[in-house]
Amino acid sequence: MITLSFTSATTYEICPLRYKFIYIDGLREKPTHYTTFGDVLHKCMLFFYSGTNPPTLEDLIKYYDDMWSDEGYDDERIKEYYYETGKKILTKYHEVHSKNYVKPLAMEKDFCVEYYDVKIVGRIDRISPLGKDVVEIVDYKTSMTKLEYNPNYSEQLILYQVGAEEGLGYRVGRLTIYHLPTLKAYSTGRVGDDIVNKYLRKLLSISHSIRMEEFRPSYGNHCKYCQFTDLCPMFSHMRDESEQGLTIRKIVDEVGELSKRKREIEERIRSLKAKIEEYAKSSGAERFYGEKYIMIREVVKRAEYDHEALMKILKPLGLWERVLRVDPKLVDEILVNADSALRDSIMKARKVKEVVKYVPREIKGEK
Ligand code: SF4
Repeated sequence: MITLSFTSATTYEICPLRYKFIYIDGLREKPTHYTTFGDVLHKCMLFFYSGTNPPTLEDLIKYYDDMWSDEGYDDERIKEYYYETGKKILTKYHEVHSKNYVKPLAMEKDFCVEYYDVKIVGRIDRISPLGKDVVEIVDYKTSMTKLEYNPNYSEQLILYQVGAEEGLGYRVGRLTIYHLPTLKAYSTGRVGDDIVNKYLRKLLSISHSIRMEEFRPSYGNHCKYCQFTDLCPMFSHMRDESEQGLTIRKIVDEVGELSKRKREIEERIRSLKAKIEEYAKSSGAERFYGEKYIMIREVVKRAEYDHEALMKILKPLGLWERVLRVDPKLVDEILVNADSALRDSIMKARKVKEVVKYVPREIKGEK
């Protein structure tokens, strides 16, 4: 059974190879100052809500000092900035939330839910009573960047709702992302079953790909924050100083230049042909003379059908199946919403053909 959390599933979605490094090979990432800072503030929230009454501000700040960690800070000024900001955040949080303090039902609560062949796990920051038999799920965010969160589309909250209801036996009434640096809460009501099921099916699809050992690297902006570039084939050629490696560098540039010229030439041909066509339409000519070349205007007819109309005509005649072709994109759409049994049967009929493409792109400040 594959175990997935929101973080591991998202990691797989963004880059399957990074998922493999962390969750299969067991490689550890060094803490960054973002993760260390987030960790400290989460501990402080746990402390703030640990009693029947809130702690005094002095106790909260003392706890913050005790929990403070320098790990991941490379720059003294950044460390100082984060440390002072953390104090300000907690002071404001204390001021606002001591007044309406309600002891939560649980903090940092682990859950585990089995969904077909996936074990879904997670840890909910806070579960608070909301009304009769209903709870609020709160997830704390500590990013210093001013972000606008949309709780309606938060897959993390969807997963927490599943965990709280299926794993812990609560009934969720409200889901909240609480951004600590701005003290802003982004809330939504309980997520509908259709959205929950769609996300769960996505997890099934991810678990299937993991089982199939699909761990291709996926290059993107996220690579800037990845700590495994030394192991990643997306970056291995950059470090290859062998003769063959250096030759490939020249070849890459040549292919890039040729492809650029090809695009320019194709664009030029398109615009010149448009001029000929304009002339053809106004003059009625069908054959065109240069000094070295001659061109004939050929009209190729390609049929396109109205899908619905054609289906109505051919279905009663029993001919519809004969004109249908399997569109892999449509099958993938069906897979997302298919139940486990249907998924398995479709997947058995699936063969993945690899098509290798090389797409040159100009380097603009990135490596
Ligand atoms: S460097 Fe990028 S492509 Fe390579 S493993 Fe990390 S995230 Fe994936």
